[in-house]
Amino acid sequence: MTVRVRIAPSPTGNLHIGTARTAVFNWLFARHHGGKFILRIEDTDLERSRPEYTENILAGLRWLGLNWDEGPFFQTQRLHLYKQGVQDLLDKGLAYRCYTTAEELDAMREAQKARGEAPRYDNRHRNLTPEQEAAFRSEGRNFVIRFKIEDDREIIWNDLVRGKMVWRGSDLGGDMVIARAAEDGIGQPLYNFAVVVDDMDMQITHVIRGEDHIANTAKQILLYEAFGATVPEFAHTPLILNQEGRKLSKRDGVTSISDFQKMGFTPEALVNYMTLLGWSPPDSTQEIFTLEQAAKEFSFERVNKAGAKFDWAKLDWLNSQYIHGMAGEKITDELLPYLESAGYKFTSGRERPWLEQLVALIQPSLTRLTDAVDITQLFFTTEVEFSSEALKQLQQEGSKAALEGVLAALENQQLESATAQQIIKQVVKEQKVKKGLVMRSLRAALTGDVHGPDLIESWLLLNQIGLDKPRLAKAIEG
Ligand code: GLU
Repeated sequence: MTVRVRIAPSPTGNLHIGTARTAVFNWLFARHHGGKFILRIEDTDLERSRPEYTENILAGLRWLGLNWDEGPFFQTQRLHLYKQGVQDLLDKGLAYRCYTTAEELDAMREAQKARGEAPRYDNRHRNLTPEQEAAFRSEGRNFVIRFKIEDDREIIWNDLVRGKMVWRGSDLGGDMVIARAAEDGIGQPLYNFAVVVDDMDMQITHVIRGEDHIANTAKQILLYEAFGATVPEFAHTPLILNQEGRKLSKRDGVTSISDFQKMGFTPEALVNYMTLLGWSPPDSTQEIFTLEQAAKEFSFERVNKAGAKFDWAKLDWLNSQYIHGMAGEKITDELLPYLESAGYKFTSGRERPWLEQLVALIQPSLTRLTDAVDITQLFFTTEVEFSSEALKQLQQEGSKAALEGVLAALENQQLESATAQQIIKQVVKEQKVKKGLVMRSLRAALTGDVHGPDLIESWLLLNQIGLDKPRLAKAIEG
């Protein structure tokens, strides 16, 4: 048997972290078994589906490296299959037309509530005679197609994450709607029905999805049986929770993959982190791995039942590890879009070799790619802003004289690391001041701050774009 799994997002929003994590588990499982990973866009909700969300979902999966083998398939292009499926069940007497109106359904629920019962459809139109149907039609009533669910049915499956699951037909709310009516007969299919028709047609062997779909699974198993099809295996993955232990939501600041991208996370770190949201490798000390490495080890035995807490500190840590380990070319490419969108211009000496040098300088201080915007700002403005500590430093006795010494020594020098060291030494000697004073004053004058990345390297970079002398002069004028 070839393993065939799928991710089936609805394009009613951007690619959500929960969907992306489900995609990761599907991808890992498919790759582990040398199987196929299929992408299906569930766009039957015409009112809420948008093409830009589909774009966002495809771009997000690609960005994360979750390449798919088949698809994307769109449910809106497969309506004929669902109609055929509905007809099949009608022909077998397993489904029927229900003419109950919205008002009647409301009244039914009210009465159930009054009796302290759970709301459900009471199957009242299950056995209509052709005459009764004709009478409802002549009243102008619309119908839906319902699938029969026997209350005493037991539905059992062995969930790959949660073990033995037992549901009763009576838990499922009565005969379920599988499609709406249309002018020419059978219309829009409902979610649970379209999913089963698709999963059968695409020969899905394992349905891996969030645990919020468990009740759907019970209904879907009944549909497989009605079609006489093989029921796939199911794995329900744990929810992603916030710090308070509730389902991660928009209120937690971020939920879509494109948001994480904007926040400066690298796809490698994010996908690595998502892999750990509910799964742990056999060697649990191993925290940094690629998708390919994780795929070798992946199994549902090591997926937790309990919800997975989203831990920003851990994601930040992983992100910094990936950033610090990146080759110069790659990290420069990664940072460029963030610097460009901050409005930084790469002219007047700020070409690629200079930029790579700047990136090497700041790389060890980055946690998120976006951190580069603030850290490098002083290299893209003529005027530095001085922090209060920097101003205080420049007021220290001997500070300005030291800077004058540096400026004078700079006049006829081609600045390199060795000459910079030499200049500092010379000022220390001539002015009989401490080296610390010269260094701190130099940093304050050049960067407007009292801490930051390596001073000599920063100075060399500023020198190459002609910003060091004017800054020294300005600090001396004070
Ligand atoms: N369209 C469903 C969702 O986005 C898919 C669920 C499933 O995988 O069956 O939640």
